[in-house]
Amino acid sequence: MSPLQRKTSEVLWFVLAPALLTLASQYAVAQGPADYDRAVKAAYEKFKNLDEGKNADYIPALAKVDPHLFGIALVTPDGKVYTAGDVTSEVSIQSVSKVFTMARVLQQSGEKAIEDNIGVDATGQVFNSINAIEQFKGKEMNPFVNPGAITTTSMIDGATPDSVWHSIINTLDDFAGRTLTVNQDVYKSESETNQRNQAISMLMFAYERIKANPLQATDLYTRQCSVNVNARDLAMMAATLANGGRNPVTGRQPIDSRHVAPILAVMATAGLYDDSGKWLYATGLPAKSGVGGALIAVSPGKFGIAVVSPPLDAAGNSVRGQRAIADISAALGGNPYSQLPASATAKR
Ligand code: GLU
Repeated sequence: MSPLQRKTSEVLWFVLAPALLTLASQYAVAQGPADYDRAVKAAYEKFKNLDEGKNADYIPALAKVDPHLFGIALVTPDGKVYTAGDVTSEVSIQSVSKVFTMARVLQQSGEKAIEDNIGVDATGQVFNSINAIEQFKGKEMNPFVNPGAITTTSMIDGATPDSVWHSIINTLDDFAGRTLTVNQDVYKSESETNQRNQAISMLMFAYERIKANPLQATDLYTRQCSVNVNARDLAMMAATLANGGRNPVTGRQPIDSRHVAPILAVMATAGLYDDSGKWLYATGLPAKSGVGGALIAVSPGKFGIAVVSPPLDAAGNSVRGQRAIADISAALGGNPYSQLPASATAKR
């Protein structure tokens, strides 16, 4: 080697070595497809025989859903799908739909419209509390408790109920990446028993949060809650949020990326009813559950995950759903708040 060649190789080494080391350290902690697949399958095996919780029954049709139904799906921003159990049987989406009507209103009218007309704070009261409406005069709520959710639905533009409905279902379809349908049994069952939601909508109308047709808003809300989804659909919807608002498989983008963070913020503070704080403390994941047994969670930039399992705990959240997602996310480093100091990262 000539002195010039030696000098050149020394310089190259100094320039390249740190970059190579960084790359190597990243590689050492990176999670590959095998890790994802293993984590999803392990959680399924671990919790498939867990026999805790009970189907919701205040909507009679929900009590009839098979409590053994259990499916887990995880989708990464590059569109890889990992599944275990039954990811094709459908349940009604229920409150998980609230995330996507909020998305629709943000896209249509912007953050301020939600903030001013509904609010973005947890109420500290149950999801269908009438006291909360009275206490806050219809304000200072959020789009995930029923008063806020029915109001959110009422804010979707459309000259007729049909055109509002199309806007709702098209948004859900775009997030899921396929055409979804309404579970007519659930829709009928909830329509016959939703007097409390009707009362909530009338009160929100009285407080001028809902501007017109409160009972029409309640009906559209009931229909939106009755849309059928499976675990794979739900994971795709969560992954669209994990991927800046773009569906990782179809490439369709129902909302601008800037609207994703505000949605995740409300999921973090109010996604799991009265246990939202406990859930965030344990996992750090923005999430949303529904009384049909669906649970979605988002690890921004890493994955969207969902479980369908109808038995709920006392707070109304899927028992297997919470356990499985917490385990999988822990195995994959999904908690966005969990970081090592810079020096420790370099040493790994
Ligand atoms: N449609 C249900 C209701 O309004 C949704 C409840 C939920 O999933 O939290 O009661």
